[in-house]
Order: sequence, then C-alpha cells, then structure tokens
Amino acid sequence: MGCGPRHAQTDGDHVSSEHAKNIETATRLVTAGRRKEWTQGIVNPPVWRASTILYDSVADMRANAARDTHHRLFYGRRGTPTQWALADALTELEPGAEATFLYPSGVAAISAALLSVLSPGDELLLPDSVYDPTRGFATGMLKRFGIETRFYDPLIGAGIADMIGENTRAIFMESPGSLTFEVQDIPAIVAAAKARGIVTLLDNTWATPLYFPAIEKGIDLTILACTKYVVGHSDAMLGSVTTTAQYWHQLRSTSFALGQVVSADDAYLGSRGLRTMGVRLAHHGKSALEIAQWLKTRPEVARVLHPALDDCPGSDIFHRDFKGASGLFAFVLNGGDDAGRVALLDGLELFGMGYSWGGFESLATPMDPDRIRTATTWQAEGPAIRLQIGLEDTGDLIADLAAGLDRFAAAGG
Ligand SMILES: *Cc1c(COP(=O)(O)O)cnc(C)c1O
Repeated sequence: MGCGPRHAQTDGDHVSSEHAKNIETATRLVTAGRRKEWTQGIVNPPVWRASTILYDSVADMRANAARDTHHRLFYGRRGTPTQWALADALTELEPGAEATFLYPSGVAAISAALLSVLSPGDELLLPDSVYDPTRGFATGMLKRFGIETRFYDPLIGAGIADMIGENTRAIFMESPGSLTFEVQDIPAIVAAAKARGIVTLLDNTWATPLYFPAIEKGIDLTILACTKYVVGHSDAMLGSVTTTAQYWHQLRSTSFALGQVVSADDAYLGSRGLRTMGVRLAHHGKSALEIAQWLKTRPEVARVLHPALDDCPGSDIFHRDFKGASGLFAFVLNGGDDAGRVALLDGLELFGMGYSWGGFESLATPMDPDRIRTATTWQAEGPAIRLQIGLEDTGDLIADLAAGLDRFAAAGG
C-alpha cells in the first residue's frame, strides 16, 4: 500500500507534479492524492475493497508478479487506489519525501519504522518525554531482539552529540513531548546525527506536516498517528511513516514482511479527514491558545504547558521552528491532591474523558508523568491535567473549566 516515487506520476494526474511543487499547503490538502486514474473523477478517492485480484491468464499473472507492485493491483495486502491515494497525499505534504507507508495505528507505524532501521547490537536514543507505548516497544520488544535503548533529556539539544556511542544507530524525537510538551531542538539534534551518519525519526503527530514539515527539516522518517488529526473524527485508527529515497525501500520491505496493511474503509476516512485538516487545525490551535491563556489567569493553576507560552520548556524553539500550534496541551494545578483533581474532572460536562485526541470533541484527562520518567524527573506544584481542545465554542469550554476549578478549590485544592 506504500505509495511509489513522486516522479512516477502520470499524465492522468489531477495536478501535474510540476504544478504541485508550487502550490500552497491549503491547496495541496484539497488536490493531494486525487489521481484521476484512481478516482475516475469521483471527488474524494472512493473505497476499493479487495483481497483477491483476478488475472486473465497465467501469462498475465506471471507478468504482473515480475513487475514492481507500486500502484499496481496485485493482491489486497499491497493495497488498492484507496490506500495509495492517502499515502500519496501524505507524501505530497512533506516536501523532499519519497513515499509513505500506511499502518493500522500510530503505534504500528512507530514499531515498523524502528524495525526498518535497527538491527541486533544497535542502540536507540529515545527522549524521556516519548509517548509511553513507544517506550514500551523499545524496552520490551526491541530489547528482546538485542537492541538497547538509552533515554535522553528532551531538552538536550546539541548536547545529544555527547550521548552518541559506538553502537548508536537511530535517534528518535517527539516534539512537543507526550504529556509534558517539552519542545525539542530538532535542527540541532538532526545536525549532530548527520555528522555521525545516524538515522533520525520523529513522531510528528502533534504538529503534523502543516506546522512542522519534518523531511524538509532533515528528519529521515516522520511518523503520524493519523488516528488524531488526519482522521479527525475519533472514528478510525490509522498511522503513517513518510520517508526519503534513502530509507524508503527498507521501510517498505520491512512493512511488507510484517504484513502491514490498512483497510480501504479506514484509508478512505483518512483521505476524507485530510481535506479539512488545515481548517480544523487552525481552529483547534486558536481555541487552545485562548483557553491556555485564560488558565494562566486562574490562581488554581500553577503552570500551563502550551508550547507557545513561556511556561513551557522550549517555547523559544517552538517560536523559531513551528508554523503553528495544534489543540493539545496540559496544565499543572497549584497544590491540591488527586481528590481535588478528580472533583474537577468528574464534574466536567463538555470535556469527555478518554484516550486519544485530535477529534472534534474536547477531552480532559489526568496525567502523571512521574511514574514514567527515567532520565529526568518531573517536578510539579500539584496534579496535572491534559486538555484536547475540540471545535466547541471557547466560551462554553471556559465556563466548564471554571466550574471545574471551583470544585478543585472547594475540595481544598
Ligand atoms: C496516540 C499517539 C500515538 C499512537 O497512535 P495510535 O493510533 O493510538 O496507535 C503515537 N504518538 C503520539 C504522540 C500519540 O499521541
């Protein structure tokens, strides 16, 4: 289901590759991946469900098997135009990228990306703020296969050079970090990695290529949990890895070997969500910043961990490197205990409580990073809460949070 090289586009393209180079991102979100040969003119790439593909003759079957299966119907596991259209669209959003492979979840994308670049005896460097299942994959499965992981301070920047050892093969980044939102100095880490011939991977789920074009910034493999902003409606699981010509073939062959494929229906939902991702992100971002700034004015709040605000470690780097902020951030309560936090959260009416984020609805969840860290320590004035700001009216969301903070204060917070 991976999408083939960019230069493989044909005359039947909706937009020629020459033209596609010069268009703005908003336009690209609308045109990307919609090759006429795949859509037959239907505006959003339709659902082509398939396992078996029938051939006309033995000769036909043999000829097809001998050719590259890129963008060619072969067998369902290699995808259909539905998956190719989404993969192609994600590639078009990353200037300099060769191609994209799709996965049934963000975690599947992360694990396939790591397995495609690491071998027994290699060492991986992971930021201490990394998404917890990424940490679990490294310390569990990768360790079992003889790959060691060391954790680094997400704010290490150019200092990463001192951590690179003889066996270091890959440096993974996630910026801002999961739960605590430290912004990493990606250009400095990429420069240190390149100087030593080390591969770099980025979990770019928070910013998406719209706010941080990772390949252009020198990242080798960029990963999205498309479950979040690409799908955007909390109704499908999907992941992607977009990479350069240098790493595409090993990513593709590893992913094929792992049997990775996504359903045509889920790929369709990804393509559908992608068309509105730009306007959704802008709205999420504006509302989240407004609510973050309001939280800062409240005495019950000690710190607001939003990458665009000074309280957040690395906010200077955020302003230097990112084109915008999305809708997920956290705040630390001023003293108080878990019972006060529970009183705040349990009474919320508009904020739902549940895993994931990036959908149209707001979410609030308790977060306890101190249980996870190993290379750094999490010090906080009180319990912390992560917010995903959805597309509701900000006045309504603020009123819901204000009542929650009152409950926290009444509980002795
Ligand atoms: C949710 C998430 C993932 C995993 O995505 P799934 O589709 O839930 O597997 C990976 N990275 C980050 C930063 C996430 O928030």
